[in-house]
Amino acid sequence: MAKKWVYLFREGNAQMKSLLGGKGANLAEMTKIGLPVPPGFTISTEACTAFYENNHTLPEELFNQVRTAFTELEATTGKVFGQKEQPLLVSVRSGSVHSMPGMMDTILNLGLNDETVEGLAKLTGNQRFAYDCYRRFIQMFGNVVMGVDHYHFEHLIEKQKGLRSVLLDTDLTTEDWKQVIHKFKECIYMYTKESFPQDPQEQIKKAIVAVFKSWNNQRAQIYRRIHQIPDHLGTAVNVQIMVFGNMGNDSGTGVAFTRNPSTGQKELYGEFLINAQGEDVVAGVRTPEPIIKLKEQMPKIYESFCEIAQKLEAHYSDMQDIEFTIERGKLYILQTRAGKRTAQAAITIACNMVEEGLIDKHDALLRVAPEQLDQMLHPCLDKDAKLDVIAKGLPASPGAASGRIVFEADEAEYLTKQGYKVILVRPETTPEDIHGILAAQGVLTSRGGMTSHAAVVARGMGKACICGCEQIKIDLRKKEMAIGSLTLNEGDFITIDGSTGHVILGEVPLIEPTLSEEFKQLLAWADEVRHLHVRANADNPVDAKKARELGAEGIGLCRTEHMFMEQSRVPIVQQMILAETLEEREEALKKLLPMQKEDFYGIFQAMDGLPVNIRLLDPPLHEFLPNTEELAVEIAKLQCDESMDRMELNKKETLLRKVRNLQEFNPMLGHRGCRLGLIYPEIYAMQIEAIFLAAAQCQTEGIRVIPEIMIPLVGHVNELKTMRELVNEVATKVQTQTGETIPYTVGTMIEVPRAAITAREIAAEADFFSFGTNDLTQTTFGFSRDDAEGKFLHTYVENKILPENPFITLDIEGVGSLVRLGIHEGRSRKPNLKTGICGEHGGEKRSIQFCHDVGLDYVSCSPYRVPLARLSAAQAALKK
Ligand code: PEP
Ligand code: MG
Repeated sequence: MAKKWVYLFREGNAQMKSLLGGKGANLAEMTKIGLPVPPGFTISTEACTAFYENNHTLPEELFNQVRTAFTELEATTGKVFGQKEQPLLVSVRSGSVHSMPGMMDTILNLGLNDETVEGLAKLTGNQRFAYDCYRRFIQMFGNVVMGVDHYHFEHLIEKQKGLRSVLLDTDLTTEDWKQVIHKFKECIYMYTKESFPQDPQEQIKKAIVAVFKSWNNQRAQIYRRIHQIPDHLGTAVNVQIMVFGNMGNDSGTGVAFTRNPSTGQKELYGEFLINAQGEDVVAGVRTPEPIIKLKEQMPKIYESFCEIAQKLEAHYSDMQDIEFTIERGKLYILQTRAGKRTAQAAITIACNMVEEGLIDKHDALLRVAPEQLDQMLHPCLDKDAKLDVIAKGLPASPGAASGRIVFEADEAEYLTKQGYKVILVRPETTPEDIHGILAAQGVLTSRGGMTSHAAVVARGMGKACICGCEQIKIDLRKKEMAIGSLTLNEGDFITIDGSTGHVILGEVPLIEPTLSEEFKQLLAWADEVRHLHVRANADNPVDAKKARELGAEGIGLCRTEHMFMEQSRVPIVQQMILAETLEEREEALKKLLPMQKEDFYGIFQAMDGLPVNIRLLDPPLHEFLPNTEELAVEIAKLQCDESMDRMELNKKETLLRKVRNLQEFNPMLGHRGCRLGLIYPEIYAMQIEAIFLAAAQCQTEGIRVIPEIMIPLVGHVNELKTMRELVNEVATKVQTQTGETIPYTVGTMIEVPRAAITAREIAAEADFFSFGTNDLTQTTFGFSRDDAEGKFLHTYVENKILPENPFITLDIEGVGSLVRLGIHEGRSRKPNLKTGICGEHGGEKRSIQFCHDVGLDYVSCSPYRVPLARLSAAQAALKK
């Protein structure tokens, strides 16, 4: 039997998402539960995959099946595809497994041609409407299928309006549209050397191909990369009977969420436009009215829409985003899907739904994307700041952002790469602007509603966004925007508050947000189910405190070199490095000791009762010394100066010589980590002494300390063995001296392949392992972590040589194998060996899933990622 490529809506259901795409599966489900869905059919994602596998040709049987499906639609509606008297018109829309709003193509009113347009006119008794539909169809088809730029069509409409001295499209008559249609056809021929096809069979075939191809357009590819959607899934195509929201004032179209997607509040939330066609609301060309106004204008329709909305939410046990059309007083549902929402809304909805008994705690945990929690930690405006509010728009996505005005997405991306903060200001955004939205701090548009492209995309990315700010007049050509008499140019500073819709002149100080009760509630549920502990990477008391507030259960990595870099300490650190004798060095170390002790004291205090993992000095010493080029310039200047100080010159020349002596060709593979401790044990000894002195002081003050001393970059057990002896020796000395017994442990980082391979031997000397996956990724791939990303890694990812940037998402096959091996070998020697991860991967969702799967004890990440890690760890446990 021939393979089935085409499914009528009545043949599918919500479970068939991977085959029918999200839209298709939900249309089928809604048909099944008796909602007013215009009939149609779905061409499966398998057909899309086959299309790509067969060199861009549709499977042979597919078109026969499409024809059979059309026969059924014709029988249901009494209309005939391509027939002049009773023409059947359809929409053709993409619909992949994951929702990708606006990324792929749509064609409406397909089936119209020079003859059927007359049929439509007769059928509806409205010639102007029929020709308006026809020109829209040619415009969409010309753009999506035949590749003619939008701009040309818009230009021809503007020209016609100019000829007729009118301002609005609605002022154009039937005759005008007929002329426009004629010019559209000429325009298509001019740019493609092909005629606009009159045969509806040819139209549908080409439209299907175009939708399949749109799976691989640039914006869809970028969207997939940002949202980590696999490329191989393909899209389905939904072909559905057209219903018209633009048939007069008893018609309309809209989009509504069953709960507020910004705050999560339980209220119907959305917008509609009277006498408008499907895409007008989403495209943001006209600013729509709030859904509540529908209650006044069409009370019956509003009531039945509310009922359907409730039914859908209960049916899917999730907040729904519903598209509807009213055609001459009859309501149709065109789409339902889980609504995109801000982090705050996601958390509030999840918690409320548990309370309402719609879902349980575990469902709630799986409902919130861990990376969304980041949004909750976004800045808002400092309440005490003076605000010069210059305009107000729709509060489309919460959070505040300041930056320089830019008007083009490319410019936003370019300036961000140069280190500037920018706000992207556009009349409205389109999917082509996605890279600019991604780069900008926030987005401001003068047109469009809460469900416009800019709003939906910014919300998904957790960026501040204001839409529909109509007071702003943007002149893209002059690169300026005017609000009344005020004119702002590209490069001027503004601040936007996406929670209130305020546009503010200048740069406003931003402050950290406070966390809602629901946020805490959700994370408390996460803590009940997760197995992984979550610690933080922090190297000062302020960060440690913040980490604890956000739920860290200790410090997994305190990088002590950050303490060396503090401005006031640099001269002493330099004295230590440049010392020619041991005595000289010890003198400098003596000065550093009380400073380091103070640092550790503050951290122990902040982490009272929790483990604090302190890593001894790691980077090569020359990193603390002045830059050689700058030094050379200073010397040259001194040499040219007639009144130069000879002593000063000598000092600088000696310094330059020493810095040059310390420099290495491959500092990342050079004299760093425990190699420093082995050559200069007095440096490590000072740090160990400071740790134990601070710990002893804390203990006498009633603070509970649990220090873990960590030796970096160990590759051979003997390195660790020697360093461990040093720790024990100094610890014994300080404990005797202070009379305080400190419960400490000594362990190592596993960050070079040899350490993972010989983990069994190393475990003999270690109380714990912490996988330093930044260095382990560097040394496993042989990619410099400082250079690879800027030089070639982004191309590797773009060209899919690597599926992801391995410095962001752990390379499970390669680096992950070494982690797995390290744990296995280490535990084979010491079954209770404590294991954790402290590379950047410890704060990344999928890497955390891996950490759970391989049975690590904890992950450690930057303080602001702790909530994300807690939720990811819970999800990992639940998924298992
Ligand atoms: C690591 O290498 O993963 C690590 C945490 O150490 P650092 O980033 O300080 O080298
Ligand atoms: Mg490292």
